[in-house]
Amino acid sequence: VWNNCLAFIQDNIQSQAFKTWFEPIKPVKLTDNALSIQVPSKFFYEWLEEHYVKLLKVALTKELGESAKLVYVIKMENTYGNREPFTEKIPSSNRSNVGPQELDVPIKSKNPELKNPFVIPGIRNIKIESQLNPNYNFDNFLEGDSNRLARSAGMAVANKPGGTSFNPLLIFGGVGLGKTHLAHAIGVEIKDKYPERTVLYISAEKFTQQYIESVKKNTRNDFIHFYQLIDVLIIDDVQFLSGKSGTQDVFFHVFNHLHQNGKQVILTSDKAPVDMQDVEQRLLSRFKWGLSAELQNPDYETRISILKNKLYRDGVEMPEDIVDYVAKHIKTNIRELEGAIISLIAQSSFNKKEVTLELAQHVVEKFVKNTKREVSIDYIQKVVSDYFEMDVATLQSKTRKRHIVQARQLAMFFAKKFTKASLASIGSQIGKRDHATVLHACKTVDNLAETDKQFRKYIDDLTKKFS
Ligand code: ADP
Ligand code: MG
Repeated sequence: VWNNCLAFIQDNIQSQAFKTWFEPIKPVKLTDNALSIQVPSKFFYEWLEEHYVKLLKVALTKELGESAKLVYVIKMENTYGNREPFTEKIPSSNRSNVGPQELDVPIKSKNPELKNPFVIPGIRNIKIESQLNPNYNFDNFLEGDSNRLARSAGMAVANKPGGTSFNPLLIFGGVGLGKTHLAHAIGVEIKDKYPERTVLYISAEKFTQQYIESVKKNTRNDFIHFYQLIDVLIIDDVQFLSGKSGTQDVFFHVFNHLHQNGKQVILTSDKAPVDMQDVEQRLLSRFKWGLSAELQNPDYETRISILKNKLYRDGVEMPEDIVDYVAKHIKTNIRELEGAIISLIAQSSFNKKEVTLELAQHVVEKFVKNTKREVSIDYIQKVVSDYFEMDVATLQSKTRKRHIVQARQLAMFFAKKFTKASLASIGSQIGKRDHATVLHACKTVDNLAETDKQFRKYIDDLTKKFS
């Protein structure tokens, strides 16, 4: 039965994956419609369940019919130092009719590998699916001033993984600036140049989940062991590890092992290492061993070339002034830049007509609005009055009551800070004052900020609401 299943599976997956994940499996027994297979570790079992459960189900159903059951038997390390292997049965997750976990008697096997439970067969020459997205490559990662350093550091790492001083390579920058794209591009390039190296891309979030699972299932060692086998480890969004001391700890472990063995580590983060909070000092100091390269906001030329490249690849033409309009108005997020142009392409092909500037304005406005609220003087007055639990009319009134005067002065201060309005215009909008009053307000706020803790807190709280 198992051989027939294997033949079917072999036809349906890549030969490397087959070798890694199916050849080490040993059929153990078949009772009724339940086939027991032995796998080398819990991690192995989890990997099968996560990646190949559907395939297994189809193969087994073909052989045994709809009532087929699959039972995993896991050969485990005995953590108490007893070198007799013992096994644990786990029913396949898609077979809910199989009872809970049960411990089985040790399998007496003639296979010499099984005599030593500390050697997990097959795991040494494991081939891991890289989880890389081939659509994120260097060819379509356009170069500009904003990303030149990060991009060329990435290229250097791809040419000589583990062999440059950029280890780890930490790519950091704001949302939508290409961190994930660049991280994949490095991995894709390495796979291309060094097909035999094991590359793994994983988000810090997924890494954390896997780790937590492994603790729950008592397979923390398998988890660490697995990660130590990787040649190029790419972890995306490491800011996610902030505050998660257990995961940081295990990552520290893995990192040290990889680094000592000349393996490459690539990390991305939405913050520079100095700004990462709740990350252990020893990890931060490791991050600084290599290179931290920032992805900055793309300049106008880069934005234009990203847009034109997108249009070119999609075989779409778009008037220059439209492209220009989009590039001029979306400045801080390449995902939004692309989103806007995709939306315009969709609308033009849907309505089979040229995109007008009016439509472009409409689309761009939607994208920009979603992310950044325009801070107006009206808005500032509203927020400040809300904060001090008064209404805008009170804030603007002539009263000399201290807390109202302070609120008014704060509104003026923020209007100066967050809008381009002149002192005179700020004054006239906040209760018809003159420019000298506004100037005085700004100075007063500056002074109080330094001398009055409570006042400082008002400023910090309110600043958060405007940025
Ligand atoms: P981040 O991970 O920093 O949030 P992503 O890597 O997901 O950002 O990038 C957002 C989008 O912008 C993706 O579609 C990506 O392909 C695109 N992008 C980012 N930088 C570039 C670039 N230099 N050239 C072309 N496309 C880019
Ligand atoms: Mg990302």
